[in-house]
Amino acid sequence: DDRIARISSTIRVIPDFPKPGIMFQDITTMLLDPVAFKDSIDLFVERYKDKDISVVAGVEARGFIFGPPIALAIGAKFVPMRKPNKLPGISFLPLTSVTFFQFNNSSHRIICYVMSCHVISGAVISEEYSLEYGSDIMEMHVGAVEAGERTLVIDDLIATGGTLVAAINLLERVGANVVECACVIELPDLKGRDRLGDKPLFVLISST
Ligand code: IMP
Repeated sequence: DDRIARISSTIRVIPDFPKPGIMFQDITTMLLDPVAFKDSIDLFVERYKDKDISVVAGVEARGFIFGPPIALAIGAKFVPMRKPNKLPGISFLPLTSVTFFQFNNSSHRIICYVMSCHVISGAVISEEYSLEYGSDIMEMHVGAVEAGERTLVIDDLIATGGTLVAAINLLERVGANVVECACVIELPDLKGRDRLGDKPLFVLISST
């Protein structure tokens, strides 16, 4: 496909960013080429338009660039998977007090409490995941995805796979049916695909 060659040629590689030894794949130069950017979106849309997908979940930050145009084109909603403390709402932690209510109050009050978390304040659930050095946290709003919804996870790049695994875990905790993950770039040497287990991964470019 000629489109892949064009996309590939627009991606800039920055050596030693963000630390020595890393060859950073920079997709921002692709965004400067409207044909290449549109081609990347078209390739994803062609793959997912007839797959009955109702949720496109994008991983912060560059999943927010590719996710929304794909979601709009296939008629799905877009759900942001965010870095910690960015989503407005109550962290899921206070819901431990629901357990307390369960033993001490009427079921009516439990339901009100859960509804206020989900609807008024927006409950947030978190997943910690490991990075090459240290760890990070990803968060999503409970209530954004209904149980059983067919979901696509999108990010710009898969390296070790830890980020996508965290996104899958969060989505599956709320009952989503994650049908596939998609990235513009895969770094196959890091074997991130293996960490996804039997979850399919679709990429436009494999960069060795
Ligand atoms: P992983 O969790 O090791 O698979 O790392 C993937 C995450 O790190 C994604 O959210 C990427 O946006 C980011 N990332 C890692 N390396 C690169 C890179 O070379 N270019 C752009 N993003 C990268």
